Amino acid sequence: DNAESLLKNADTAMYRAKDSGRSSYRLCTRAMNSRAAERLSVENALRRAVEREELELYYQPLIRLATREIVGMEALLRWNRPGHGIVLPGTFIGIAEETRMILPIGEWVLREACRQAKVWQETQYPSLRIAVNLSPRQFQQTDLRDVVLRALEEAGIAPQSLELEITEGTAMFQTERTIALLTDLRQLGVSIALDDFGTGHSALSYLRQFPVDRVKIDREFIQEIDTSPSNRAIVSAIVAMAHGLGMTVTAEGVETEAQVAFLREQECEEVQGYLFGRPACVR
Ligand code: C2E
Ligand code: MG
Ligand code: MG
Repeated sequence: DNAESLLKNADTAMYRAKDSGRSSYRLCTRAMNSRAAERLSVENALRRAVEREELELYYQPLIRLATREIVGMEALLRWNRPGHGIVLPGTFIGIAEETRMILPIGEWVLREACRQAKVWQETQYPSLRIAVNLSPRQFQQTDLRDVVLRALEEAGIAPQSLELEITEGTAMFQTERTIALLTDLRQLGVSIALDDFGTGHSALSYLRQFPVDRVKIDREFIQEIDTSPSNRAIVSAIVAMAHGLGMTVTAEGVETEAQVAFLREQECEEVQGYLFGRPACVR
């Protein structure tokens, strides 16, 4: 009933037509406005998810390449959403970020992961390291250091058992503050890993200044080791650079023995991937 919504709806229909392979037409329906509605519904459901304890942590083993033993676990968030099954973080972390819900969720992840680490340390793996992903927004939080300290104390694990994973995006944002915060956290004894390395926009000059203990090479580069000489060159260069800067290296998404063989030649310290274990829940 007004020009603006007419144009908006026509636009929606056009995009839908293009999505279904062009040379076609679509009528705009209520359902199409559902993208926005869908977001809103995810947002509302996510708010309830925290209260209803629908969030769950899965864990994936981190393997020392030389001995093939488990040296750590990475906590990976899952949402057991009623009517939707197990939902992967890719579909809701972004929304949690935008709505700042990532702050309470992230704090829960940290506390729960530390608690589980304590259980493992007391049973099977006395020196297990627990890796927790942090989102950029959590990193802007002023009391992050306190949140981390509290989680460690509450669980009764040493700061040396905790590794925080940040992405290049987080690292490059507000660099002065970020460097100060990272330095603070490392002074506690917590280690820092740069996740998905190679996919973001790390300036090498920044990397040099960054107080980072580990680089995790993104799956994208690892997956094509077998077939792509240029990916082999990139992986080999990242490992050499990290070692030159005094950092250790974890390769993500390792799925084949051929990849393992190449990574061993490069003296990559740790691997993570379906070959050694998929993310799994503890219960
Ligand atoms: P990430 O931290 O890089 O985690 C590794 C992702 O790769 C996980 O996906 C894992 O299931 C997948 N993966 C591991 N090995 C293999 C493999 O061999 N092959 C293949 N195809 N995939 C493999 P997932 O669990 O879907 O998590 C996706 C991303 O969501 C994570 O990437 C991380 O950035 C983010 N995320 C997960 N949990 C949290 C959390 O608690 N907080 C925040 N802020 N982000 C989280
Ligand atoms: Mg990670
Ligand atoms: Mg990663």
